[in-house]
Amino acid sequence: MTVTSARSTATQQQARMARARDFSFIGRLCLDFAQTGDMGWGTRYERLTSPSELGRWLTRCPLHVAVASVTATDLLRATGLRTAIWRTAQALLAGDKPRAADIRRLNVDARHPPLVRALSPDGTSMRWHQPSLDAALATVAQDAVLLFGDSQQRARLRRCENSGCRVVFFDDSRPGARRWCAANRCGDRIRAREYRRRHTGTTPSSR
Ligand SMILES: [Zn+2]
Repeated sequence: MTVTSARSTATQQQARMARARDFSFIGRLCLDFAQTGDMGWGTRYERLTSPSELGRWLTRCPLHVAVASVTATDLLRATGLRTAIWRTAQALLAGDKPRAADIRRLNVDARHPPLVRALSPDGTSMRWHQPSLDAALATVAQDAVLLFGDSQQRARLRRCENSGCRVVFFDDSRPGARRWCAANRCGDRIRAREYRRRHTGTTPSSR
């Protein structure tokens, strides 16, 4: 493989990842939510393209919460919180001070009453008690407050080492040495690239 073709393959991979049709859940609620945005790739990579898509994300995310209706105004509120989480994570990873407006925004949403669980009459299952969008967003915002505000959790905030990937994740591995957003996503790609480089002498693209 020539350097040029390796580069174009890497670019195609990158575009595929950015254009992934459905939501991905890497494992930390607030970061998974933050990554429904375009992540700096451009607006065509936006995942929450309508209020109903926000509703669908909520049912598919680890909260598995169904809210009665999601309006265009709700979507605006949600994406505002999402931007605040995304930018704060980026700032902290870069060692910069987060924007005051983003912190304010996070705190405003985190102050609302969060989702609460209720036990079923037979005591063997549970459901959300009167779930609402406000409560769901508050739960996401609280998760971000905990992640950023707790020094031990913040120390495990990572950016995927695949430079063609912009995923930010929480490293919950015991040694705390996780390098990629997901082994079967970027880990396999990087290992395959390193293998090719060792065995063919190909200079890989930096992406
Ligand atoms: Zn990755």
